Amino acid sequence: MSDTLESLRAEYQTLREKGLALDLTRGKPSAAQLDLANGLLDIPLSTDHRDTAGTDLRNYGGTDGLVELREIFSELLGIPVPQLLAGGNASLQKMHDTVVELLLHGTPGGEPWVGKDIAFLCPSPGYDRHFAITQALGIRMISVPYLEDGSLDLPAIEKHLADSAVRGMWIVPMYANPTGSTVDEATARALVAMPAAAPDFRIFWDNAYALHHLTDDEPAPIDILGLAAEAGNPDRVFVFASTSKITHAGAGVAFFASSPANIAWHKKNASVQTIGPDKLTQLRHARFFGDAEGVRAHMRKHRALLAPKFAIVDRVLSERLTGHATWTKPTGGYFVTLNAPARTASRAVELAKSIGVAVTPAGAAFPYGDDPRDSVIRIAPSMPPEAELEQAIEALCVCVLLAEAELAVSR
Ligand code: PMP
Repeated sequence: MSDTLESLRAEYQTLREKGLALDLTRGKPSAAQLDLANGLLDIPLSTDHRDTAGTDLRNYGGTDGLVELREIFSELLGIPVPQLLAGGNASLQKMHDTVVELLLHGTPGGEPWVGKDIAFLCPSPGYDRHFAITQALGIRMISVPYLEDGSLDLPAIEKHLADSAVRGMWIVPMYANPTGSTVDEATARALVAMPAAAPDFRIFWDNAYALHHLTDDEPAPIDILGLAAEAGNPDRVFVFASTSKITHAGAGVAFFASSPANIAWHKKNASVQTIGPDKLTQLRHARFFGDAEGVRAHMRKHRALLAPKFAIVDRVLSERLTGHATWTKPTGGYFVTLNAPARTASRAVELAKSIGVAVTPAGAAFPYGDDPRDSVIRIAPSMPPEAELEQAIEALCVCVLLAEAELAVSR
């Protein structure tokens, strides 16, 4: 047995004896981040619950969402107000429902997808809950690995689009979950202009982290709907966003945006589903922020809490895993992707679990849970306090090194 394996086993045993209970699994805001938005809960609406047009927001109606709030996010997301709807609290539900609408009704003028061989392109590693939606709804998933530099493999995507079964594509354009990569304008232009065999091919542009910068650089979101219109494919893109990681993750507002034709299509479908969203929550958000600058200032407070945590992750990984693994250094969003040595991720996650460090299951960031290299581990640093986070990453590093050493002796 090598010295390394022995010393790592000893270190692992010491960690086990600590009885850790640490959680790096999901990208949830910490309590301190949630506290930043507690002012929302103190906004009195009992005597003032009307919008600027005088509508009583306690009642049914207003299915497009509160104009005042849509105006604020219109500026932030760079999307015209009429093309930006606000409703519900979860953008994931909007994504799910949009896929269901496509299955049942098809696109405007298109055929329903249900009963057909339908496939979605899934840039990978990607967001496990996207893949869960497509899998649950019977849609075939095609993994499209990101290139080494974190950019999308446009030639591969173009090749897949020659297949008329390919009707959709998931993409998180800014600070992607989990790679942290951001789509640049040239790539965005290519995606909306690319020929597609299926005339109803749709891109699910999930801009969940559009405002979630971790540095002074605060790039504006790409005007993807404008680019799609310019390219002659105005209806190709559905945009999703929410305040989940801006205010309170369980009590925020979701946004859905698209071309005028798609908005009309969605409104028709949604009209049988609801008589209007929770406009009081929307009103609280509009009053809490005041304007787009209010949201930007608020996001800087999140950054002040989050950036030190990302720095801890990077420091500990550098100290322990340099020469063994690589990892992303995101400038926004909620995740770090750790690329452990090939064939060690599942074992490392299992080792971590058995000493009380919970990590998202290996493979989760891939369609069908299949990471072909068994290498990717998603780290979500937001939730634990800094001291716990440091301990958890230290422990995870030991698990990665131990998994690597075990593999070396088994060869
Ligand atoms: N999209 C991405 C890429 C996410 O990472 C998350 C949260 N982890 C969501 C959507 C969920 O958004 P919501 O809370 O609006 O459903």
